[in-house]
Amino acid sequence: MLYCEECLYPNTKPDLIFQNGICNACINFKNRKYIDWNKRKDELINIFKKYKSEDNNNWDCIIPVSGGKDSTFQVYKILKLGYNPLCVISSTCHLSDIGRYNIENLKKIGVDMIEFTANKKIRKKLNTIGLETVGDISWPEHISIFTIPVIFAVKFNIKLIIWGENSQNEYGGPASSVDNNILDRNWLENFGGLIGLRESDIVMLSDNSIKENELIPYRYPSDDDIKRVGVTGLFLGYYFFWNGIGNAIISQSLGMKTYESFVEGSSCNYENLDNYQTGIHDYFKYLKFGFGRASDIVNNQIRRNIISREDGLEIVKNHDGKFPSHYLDKNLKEILDYIDMNEEEFIKICDSFTNKQIFKTDDNGELLKINNKPILLNEII
Ligand SMILES: [Zn+2]
Repeated sequence: MLYCEECLYPNTKPDLIFQNGICNACINFKNRKYIDWNKRKDELINIFKKYKSEDNNNWDCIIPVSGGKDSTFQVYKILKLGYNPLCVISSTCHLSDIGRYNIENLKKIGVDMIEFTANKKIRKKLNTIGLETVGDISWPEHISIFTIPVIFAVKFNIKLIIWGENSQNEYGGPASSVDNNILDRNWLENFGGLIGLRESDIVMLSDNSIKENELIPYRYPSDDDIKRVGVTGLFLGYYFFWNGIGNAIISQSLGMKTYESFVEGSSCNYENLDNYQTGIHDYFKYLKFGFGRASDIVNNQIRRNIISREDGLEIVKNHDGKFPSHYLDKNLKEILDYIDMNEEEFIKICDSFTNKQIFKTDDNGELLKINNKPILLNEII
């Protein structure tokens, strides 16, 4: 594995591109200083002039929200610009207590909100299918986060959807995607987290235990419907300088609760607070690519000169890839019970998705682990 010379991203990270030893998440961040943010803000205001409800009989836009730091910030910004959004929540796979608190907090800010909860029995089956087939327990959540707001935009005839950051700019991605300001079906299919598993595969993978009409929440509306309404999805991160830490501070000032310590497997206390399964999701990222959520957070902080690469490295070594024995204080057994899986089955799936080209094995090809955490072949330097 090779690492970016400025941050701690490895070249195993999907879609990340390196130029002269530096990853394009770092390059994109540096390029932001050349952006005229006032001009971008004016662009957004002009877009709203076109899309704002003229007769005040409909909402001006949809904001997909979770109650977390970024969506609370999105709501704050759009309200400050004087628009009337309809907030849409697609419930997480296993909503945490703190996640519930933050949803209720967001409602208090003063917006209309729809909270959509997909059939939980089906969702649990999809968690298992996602974990077993592509090593991603959060597959259904990542899909429905994108489909539900678009479904409601079509149903309610709302043209504009205001998404948060473009993850391809913030965390690195192909050049064509980095400066993109539009989230559409094409972006979703390439970068939205489908990772090779499509909604159309599910009926077959479930041995017909899931029916087609039970997958409505996971289906992006048809091109015809989107065209008829004229739905356009924009990234707010294109129009405002995006700063997760700043967003967290603003959201806390508006009442958002954080966790009492670093979130398990991460290196901050202000994000990924709303789903007990996220610890499993992040652990699998480590097993597949050799880096976890702690790296994402630390890298953002290194780019912003909040901590040095050297100190960040220590944090990453201590927090990335920890076995998810608990998450947000709920223990793994309870988290697995929720999807009818036991720890033995879980570890088998973990091992089958662990990339043996980047982790140490013994002479029999068995993975070597310390506290259930596989050991990287080469240490980060
Ligand atoms: Zn980098």
